[in-house]
Amino acid sequence: MPRTTPLYYEYPYLREFESGVLKLVSFDENCYVVLEQTCFFPEGGGQLGDSGFLIGSTGKLKVVDTQAADDVIVHVAVSVGGEVKEGEAVHGSIDWNVRYNRMRQHTGSHVLFSSIKKVLSLKELMYMGVQIKEDVSRIDISYGKPISPGQLREIERLSNKVCLENRRVKTWSTTRDEAERTYGKRLGLTEVTPSGMVRVVEVEGWDVALCCGTHVSSTAEIGLIKVLDRFRLQKGVERIEFTAGERAYKYYDDSMETLSALAQLLQSSTREVVGRVGLLMEERDRLKEELEKVKNQLVEAKATELLDQGEAFGEFRLLVKELPKVGAHGLKRMASTLVKREPYLVVILGSAVEKACIIGAAGEKAVERGIDMAETIREAAEVIKGGGGGTAKIAQAGGRETSQLEKALHQYAEKVSRRLRALLQ
Ligand SMILES: [Zn+2]
Repeated sequence: MPRTTPLYYEYPYLREFESGVLKLVSFDENCYVVLEQTCFFPEGGGQLGDSGFLIGSTGKLKVVDTQAADDVIVHVAVSVGGEVKEGEAVHGSIDWNVRYNRMRQHTGSHVLFSSIKKVLSLKELMYMGVQIKEDVSRIDISYGKPISPGQLREIERLSNKVCLENRRVKTWSTTRDEAERTYGKRLGLTEVTPSGMVRVVEVEGWDVALCCGTHVSSTAEIGLIKVLDRFRLQKGVERIEFTAGERAYKYYDDSMETLSALAQLLQSSTREVVGRVGLLMEERDRLKEELEKVKNQLVEAKATELLDQGEAFGEFRLLVKELPKVGAHGLKRMASTLVKREPYLVVILGSAVEKACIIGAAGEKAVERGIDMAETIREAAEVIKGGGGGTAKIAQAGGRETSQLEKALHQYAEKVSRRLRALLQ
């Protein structure tokens, strides 16, 4: 096939064109069209292939992708009516909004690249990958250290300054040797930059790179650059995600909407939000502390009430009690408080808040005499279909079968009281 004349380099703003159809091959659902000339950009340099329409005298094709095979540009299309034939002339139009967005993002990536170099004080930096997409674009760079949030902000600030300065963006072709001679280490290269004829893209006084993508002609057209994220892709390679143009504006707009909603919730101005949230968190910590105090007081009060109850076994006493509304944490606290106050006491408490829970605790004297609360806790745990364990002093069981709590409590208490009786003989 003869070389396709690309129109997108000489006329990057060209949206429509006329061309003869050199070749058209149908395969499965798609047809593959080669034209004499085209302004459809084929995928390359991290930029996706253009989409759009090709319209002939009796048919219309929707171009879904554009690819290049050497110097031949192939339009991947589907028929949307009639027939387009080899040899006829077609009118081509590209999806301009998509393409223009990519031109902005692509130019933005070049501005960012030199901002990164400046902020990180690097003389040399290499592109390890570029991807230009409508939502999130990214550049991967040869840099082995994490870039701090402060540095990222400075990179973004500098990039937007360059946008506002409305610097010219110039492109031309030369050989790679010539470009390297002229620009030395300033030149932005990738590992796959070809060695023959290359395309130089220069952001006046800021950045110069070898790149085959399409670009806007001045930095003001980028509009706005927003750095979104960074992370280490692999050893020695950092990835920076960003967006530019309308997407960047949308990002700020969405962020402001969230901030305004927060301010409204807090009944403050957006400037006061951080201070207000800080106060709320202090308040929360104070309330948590207070709640903890009140809970302890409640446990103490309840413990006093329970202390006289239970069945006597000589000098020992066994207290078995179901406290239905107290969670596992509260049960444990209650059991510990009780046995601390009364060294001859053995306590078995149960509850079923979300799951069934049993706590067994023995006072110091009971433990000294040989009571081991962990001895039979696993058998009780099996009844409530769960697990358990602990020490001689305190043991715990938890299980999902809340309906079996009473049975499990009874069984555990039975075993412990048998042990107490044995101690007395
Ligand atoms: Zn580029």
